[in-house]
Amino acid sequence: MERVSGVTPEETVLQGTPVSGGIGIAPLHVIARGFAAPEVYEIDDVEAERRRFEAALERTREQLIALQERINAISGTDEGMIFEAHQMMLEDKALVGQVMAAIEKRRQNAEYALYATIQNYLEAMRRVPDPYLRERTADIEDVCQRLLRNFSPEEHRVGGPDERHILVAYDLSPSDTAAMDRRHMAGFATELGSVNSHTAILARSLGIPAIVGLKNVVLDVRALTPAIIDGYSGKLILNPRSETLERYLSIRSEKEKVRHELEAQREDEAVTIDGRGITLSANIELSEEISLVKNSGARGVGLYRTEFLLLKGEQMPGEMEQAEVYTRLAKALSPDPLIIRTLDAGGDKLPVEPLSEPEPNPFLGWRGIRVSLDRPAMFKEQLRAILRASAHGKVAVMFPLISGIREVRRAKELVWECMDELEEEQVPFDGDLEIGVMIEVPSAAVIADLIAPEVDFFSIGTNDLIQYTVASDRVNHRVADLYRPSHPAVIRLIKQTIDAGLAAGAWTGVCGEMAGDLRFTPLLLGLGVEELSVGPHQVPRVRRAIRALSHAECAALADEALKSPLSLDILELSTGMARKYYPELLD
Ligand code: PEP
Ligand code: MG
Repeated sequence: MERVSGVTPEETVLQGTPVSGGIGIAPLHVIARGFAAPEVYEIDDVEAERRRFEAALERTREQLIALQERINAISGTDEGMIFEAHQMMLEDKALVGQVMAAIEKRRQNAEYALYATIQNYLEAMRRVPDPYLRERTADIEDVCQRLLRNFSPEEHRVGGPDERHILVAYDLSPSDTAAMDRRHMAGFATELGSVNSHTAILARSLGIPAIVGLKNVVLDVRALTPAIIDGYSGKLILNPRSETLERYLSIRSEKEKVRHELEAQREDEAVTIDGRGITLSANIELSEEISLVKNSGARGVGLYRTEFLLLKGEQMPGEMEQAEVYTRLAKALSPDPLIIRTLDAGGDKLPVEPLSEPEPNPFLGWRGIRVSLDRPAMFKEQLRAILRASAHGKVAVMFPLISGIREVRRAKELVWECMDELEEEQVPFDGDLEIGVMIEVPSAAVIADLIAPEVDFFSIGTNDLIQYTVASDRVNHRVADLYRPSHPAVIRLIKQTIDAGLAAGAWTGVCGEMAGDLRFTPLLLGLGVEELSVGPHQVPRVRRAIRALSHAECAALADEALKSPLSLDILELSTGMARKYYPELLD
């Protein structure tokens, strides 16, 4: 993709995996491995600035030595050698000399001097045809990023230019996505990532077009290249021809028209043509999404992922601060419900505290309710905050990653303990607030009949339920083909959960991504779900789909699906009905 001066650059199409629909048209902004240019400013005291650089170098060196030792100890080999190479970069006299010179001659702050110097190195290396050297750019970026963080370890934000742009990055963490300035974000494309990662979920919730799995994109594209991101088909089109641009402008305006039409129907009930009503609610990660929820016509929030509060600081805010956020949300939604999921930290999400040792299998490790039960003081702060908010609207609480009865009972005991305390303190709360659990671990689905009498509702977290049932990591693209929502085992577990709930008088909803995937709406309705909780942007389309379906027909389809041994056949059954009744809604 070399550009030749004087010749119009050719249109190039890069294909990735679509994770969030939408069309964005803007120049590219490239950030290497998740770090953007630091702020640049003029310094007064050259010596002090040199010392800041040296201190950051020293901190980085210490971290790398510790990392090397830890990796060697864990692996029992010398795999930590990689960090030795990183340390050598810090000793590179030419590099250090150039940064020092930039500080002195250009009077630039040390972060920027480092960043600019590194960019020059990287630019030179990207031109080298040798794949080994090209690979090494990743190491340089790693060290540079670490160094930059060590100037101000407490801050790490993904920035972007003030102009509208499409962000291209090696990878984005959920916190990077949440920290983005969305007003200027026309979309993002990354090398890593998967459909079910929290970054992708957040992009869908916020309606940001997004593509993942674009190999080498950070190396292969240049900043400011005009581009189109097609989040429906997973294409990133560089230097689009005018016909391409026109085609996409018209697709975009067509999609927007449909979207506005659907949003205008926000007062319509989510009810099938034969009269079965479904509670259609929204999933939120950030409290500012509440306006999207209201606009979508969702009947409340079915999943509030409170671990996103960890983005603000590195630990959960205190009781009163949480109570303020929850109360604001409860009031804004009232009389519709706000289902607050207690902290689900760990796994691929943010940790609640630094771990002394990395976990060998974070998804099977210290996450969800396990963390909360091991930190009762922190858990009770959250429960008390939820109870405080329950006096101001319809609030419910649910627990993530339940794997057995003991966890449910212990969590409920703590709720009661908090109720007793608040009563004593004469703080008002709703003594009848609903208590539910997420069904996202197969063991919980299998014993749903034993759990059901303990709770008011089940919310099926298909994202995790699928990965644990078929043993396929939800964020690992190598095994993405095995990650099938329509796997017969998954749909049996869903059915079993719904039936167990019904028998005990507990309602069942689905809040995983499957709930917002219109191919599966006929199947889920047929299996008997009573609630679907989806990203705010998906609400209008799911409502329209429900209104196009007959529950009786869906139930017959589900019966057939439950007898089918193949996930592809089950997918085809459900998609077939979706195509028949709402082809215009499918991407
Ligand atoms: C799920 O697992 O389906 C779910 C809704 O929870 P999360 O995606 O936050 O793990
Ligand atoms: Mg989950």
